[in-house]
Amino acid sequence: MTPDVLEAVPTVLPLVVGLFGLLVGSFLNVVVWRVPRGQSVVHPPSACPACGHRIRARDNVPVVSWLVLRGRCRDCGAPISARYPAVELATGLLFALAAWFTGPAWILPGLLYLVAISVALALIDIDVRRLPDAIVLPSYPVALVLLTLASANPGGDPDWGALGRALVGGVILLAVYAVTWFVYPPGMGLGDVKLAGVLGLYLGWFGWGSLAVGWFAAYLIGGLFSVGLMIAGRAGRKSRIPFGPWMLLGAGVGVFVGETVWGAYLGLL
Ligand SMILES: [Zn+2]
Repeated sequence: MTPDVLEAVPTVLPLVVGLFGLLVGSFLNVVVWRVPRGQSVVHPPSACPACGHRIRARDNVPVVSWLVLRGRCRDCGAPISARYPAVELATGLLFALAAWFTGPAWILPGLLYLVAISVALALIDIDVRRLPDAIVLPSYPVALVLLTLASANPGGDPDWGALGRALVGGVILLAVYAVTWFVYPPGMGLGDVKLAGVLGLYLGWFGWGSLAVGWFAAYLIGGLFSVGLMIAGRAGRKSRIPFGPWMLLGAGVGVFVGETVWGAYLGLL
């Protein structure tokens, strides 16, 4: 590549990856609806839940179609939830953020996979209070393959220390959540425990600071939210608030700013 092309990469890459994220977000809407119902995510093609008409390709363009159709089915006029374009937009922005954060690096595919499952799992947990095995369990081998690729770093120097940290991080987070679940079962679902290992793999790969901050941030953000809900009178002490979204959000904080926050924290001591 010429230097001009290389200089354009920092701007072009997030843009291209962000557009790809819009399409992934569209697919995640299907995943979030179908996986908890035990349906295939590829067959049959999407149809309007109200009238059953198949969604035409031109009405399936992320965000744009919803705006053009003004949030209504072309055939029967039934309203289409604003959540669909919101999920597409959020996924696109998170993909762009991930690409901006890593630049053209081999960790990018792994990070995009984490973003995608995080969006899907957070929404499913909010909808049905479950983190389906169908997404969480295959994420172990997928994460291991993608993190191994990132550590091998083809064309550059490998970083096998990062892969070692990932394995230790996965075991630590899995063990910590398993103990918490065993000691106080009502506080946490078994699905949270299974997810913890996947998040530990990622957080460990990014660094010990990421692991510490990602783990702690889940409790901090989740705790603040619960207190906020109680103050607003929207939840009692016994209300069941799903913990999965906070684990995922905490992991995101750990990945993106964990090392910085951890460094600042150690600097204070
Ligand atoms: Zn319809």
